[in-house]
Amino acid sequence: MVDFMVKENKREICPSCTDLFDRPRHECGVCGIFNHSEAARLAYFGLYALQHRGQESAGIVSSDGENTHIHKAMGLVPDVFTEEDLQRLKGHLAVGHVRYSTTGASNITNTQPLLVTHQGRTFALAHNGNLVNSRELRNSLEKEGAIFQTTMDSEVILHLLARKAGDFEEALQKSFTAVKGAFSILLMTENSLIAVRDPDGFRPLCLGRMQGDDGESWILASETCALDLVAAEYIRDIAPGEMLIIDKSGMRSLFPWGEGKSSPHHCIFEHVYFARPDSEVFGINVYNARKKMGEILAEEAEIDADLVMPFPDSGNYAALGYAQKSGIPLEFGVIRNHYVGRTFIQPTQSMRDFNVRVKLNPVRGFLKGKRIIIVEDSIIRGTTGRSRVAALRQAGAAEVHMVVSCPPTRYACYYGIDFPSVEQLIAGKREAEEVGKCLGLDSLHYLSLEGMVRATGLPKENFCLACFNNIYPVEPDLNFLKMS
Ligand code: SF4
Repeated sequence: MVDFMVKENKREICPSCTDLFDRPRHECGVCGIFNHSEAARLAYFGLYALQHRGQESAGIVSSDGENTHIHKAMGLVPDVFTEEDLQRLKGHLAVGHVRYSTTGASNITNTQPLLVTHQGRTFALAHNGNLVNSRELRNSLEKEGAIFQTTMDSEVILHLLARKAGDFEEALQKSFTAVKGAFSILLMTENSLIAVRDPDGFRPLCLGRMQGDDGESWILASETCALDLVAAEYIRDIAPGEMLIIDKSGMRSLFPWGEGKSSPHHCIFEHVYFARPDSEVFGINVYNARKKMGEILAEEAEIDADLVMPFPDSGNYAALGYAQKSGIPLEFGVIRNHYVGRTFIQPTQSMRDFNVRVKLNPVRGFLKGKRIIIVEDSIIRGTTGRSRVAALRQAGAAEVHMVVSCPPTRYACYYGIDFPSVEQLIAGKREAEEVGKCLGLDSLHYLSLEGMVRATGLPKENFCLACFNNIYPVEPDLNFLKMS
């Protein structure tokens, strides 16, 4: 029996999110719980910790071994679930998802987890990443008569699974080896939880353990910050190319692409911007990596200035690293209004840059006559950057320099990050000097590719760097490129 609840929450664009239009948009977060009497509640907490990975919609599917319950809606985690909703999500298993759409439109039909029942078996799927051959697979599945319910790439996996006859684990492996691209996926059946990570390990996925009321409980999540919130012990990352199955008989790993054959290409942007600084991602602490990026940037870009500052909260940790290494004091010359709500009455008359100013306001009395170094973690379109720099000049800043803790973002991402097309990227066809002029800066310096990688402590070969160097670890199919 499937108990279905999908709420059509109205979603409003908020002034506090305006900078998302100038920044790489987040992707998705997943969280799964096995063997806990409050599985859905723990999944809810996990999603709460992962909210930064997707703010469009949230959903949880739970199972008590016989009945499956689902609740999902557009909106932020605390708006989507009420206490009553969580109480209705009964069972010892749960899988949850927060979404920012990178393929498929942003609407209630495309929210996750996806839930299907096929030949008496129920599957709930939560996906972080992007498949790069989903269009090709979808076309051939549709020719064979498949009817898709959503426009999401993830749905092809369920259709592939439904078509494979015989042993379930064999069918699982065959289905996943047919898809290409980035996927950290949680798949729940009535009585098992399965984690699958693509052979390149683009997106993170980790395993933690808790003490439940009926023995050991397990949590799978995009980032370790979700484990911290539910007081779970971090056990390990799911390896690139690993399929981990947890059920009553225990835990076992399959390697559909061959054991030891996967070579990681982790998304380095997780460390630059996406992941929470209190998470361990790809075995590295994000806070330390970001701070180190700032330190290396201070070695590469020496500037004579009075102060270093971030635009809160982007670039905070790199700014700290830059300031400590350069000896130039870190200051907070811009104050963020943390109480900008999601609903906001807009000014009736056109007020230039209103949405930027309502969120960030320069400290005039402090900035007057100062030579400033702004530390940013990335510049994508550059649209809000211009207004922010102008606001600093209006506040009396004598010089405004900017250092960026990653190299110029010049190429599109096909693996789950919503980078705009090359034409929309401010550095797509411009050198640093020209970008600096566009933003109204006195100078602009980017961290080198080598410096960015060095800050992580991992070898360059372990990373996807495609949006910086145009070398794509997995070639997207031609239809996908047309679609993007
Ligand atoms: Fe990450 Fe850039 Fe690679 Fe996309 S192209 S996966 S954003 S490093």
